[in-house]
Amino acid sequence: MAVAMTASDEKGINKDMVQDFKVSKENELRFEVEAKERVKLELMDGIAEIFGTELVRTRSYIFESSSKIAVFTWFGCSIRLTGKLEAAYVSKETPMTIYLNTHAAVELMRRKSQAEELRGPRVLVVGPQDVGKSTFCKLLLNYATRMGRKPTLIDLDVGQGGISIPGTIAALTVERPSDPVDGFDTKVPLVYHFGHTSPNGNLKLYEVLISRIADVFNAKSECNLNVRASGCVINSCGWIKGQGYNCILHAAQSFEADVVLVLDNERLHNDLKRDLPEFVNIVLLPKSPGVVERSRELRRDHREERIKEYFYGPNKIYFPHAFDVKFSEISIFKIGAPALPDSCLPLGMEEDDTQTKLVPVRPQRDLVHHILSLSMAESLEENLVETNVAGFVVVTGVDPETETLSVLAPAPYPLPRRHFLIMDIRFIDINK
Ligand code: ATP
Ligand code: MN
Repeated sequence: MAVAMTASDEKGINKDMVQDFKVSKENELRFEVEAKERVKLELMDGIAEIFGTELVRTRSYIFESSSKIAVFTWFGCSIRLTGKLEAAYVSKETPMTIYLNTHAAVELMRRKSQAEELRGPRVLVVGPQDVGKSTFCKLLLNYATRMGRKPTLIDLDVGQGGISIPGTIAALTVERPSDPVDGFDTKVPLVYHFGHTSPNGNLKLYEVLISRIADVFNAKSECNLNVRASGCVINSCGWIKGQGYNCILHAAQSFEADVVLVLDNERLHNDLKRDLPEFVNIVLLPKSPGVVERSRELRRDHREERIKEYFYGPNKIYFPHAFDVKFSEISIFKIGAPALPDSCLPLGMEEDDTQTKLVPVRPQRDLVHHILSLSMAESLEENLVETNVAGFVVVTGVDPETETLSVLAPAPYPLPRRHFLIMDIRFIDINK
């Protein structure tokens, strides 16, 4: 969502620090905004794009604290940056031509699918941490929308929350390129509750949800020709060893991936060639030398930022609502019963079943700061685990005496549904 610019949007930009860059064709200007600083970017001349979205000359783009950006140009451009930068340099070492060719190959598959009214390419992007997977997915989607396609982004990275907040897996059909500052328009995503920041938090649930979201995407593809022919781009998390590898296999199988793009890992590429069926096109691609590694702290900060943005909007343009609900108005569940030794499990029940079991929870004070997902399910006859969610609240207080729960919510009272699922993830609202 693009927000109209006003003078106050330039607040906090150090206007004395202006740098002009001439970028030759097929080069990119990379920069990082310093922590707690803001930087304004203007395209002065030529044609340029940020991760696949073309820049317009009539707008200035304001990037927030710690953003890491590359402005690429196919034909040459001039860029002006205003504000405090951690680093800014032009590089000609980019894999963009390879990435463009990859897009072109996928686009050919779409064209064929469209002509034959078949299912379009399902592209799974995998690789270790910090190789630019999310950025590459964005690039593929942006290029596809620029050809008039409606590709679907499937985000399986529960650590970052590219579509919704962390702790979820989600799908979003994309109709136009992402805004370089605000990202994709996420007004109508399909979101499922997972509750943890790593698939490790509940492997069985992770697999159940991947299968579920694949089924829902298949159903949606049946109804819309353009969505069907456009296929999907599946983003994954950087966990590629042991169980993480099994999650990748499960995702490829559930979505019946036609193409698996492996960023910067030969071993993973080889293993997938061994373990996936022959018809799957598995391609090893280089990572961009521009991709910036993120520390644990930065990842945590980024997660927090995503959650804050959910409640307060970009640049704090929304006001979340704080209200109380009676315990009797709602029900709260946790997914997964504590693991029992095999000998204690009821006959015929496997450990796997306990991982996706719904356990009712009576609110206690230790619920404070936890995020709760509000299920779209109207009644408990629906399978809460596999039903998408309407949104999230943060618990800000629990009073067992008066039996009330205080929450921060994106919309005012009353709640549109009544069944909640607890996340392991907590959010401490310092804006209060
Ligand atoms: P994770 O393993 O955490 O999911 P990832 O592999 O998805 O990471 P990205 O999130 O795509 O990696 O990229 C990491 C950071 O590098 C991001 O902040 C992104 O904006 C930045 N980045 C990506 N490509 C470039 C580039 N060519 N130049 C400068 N910065 C870049
Ligand atoms: Mn990522």
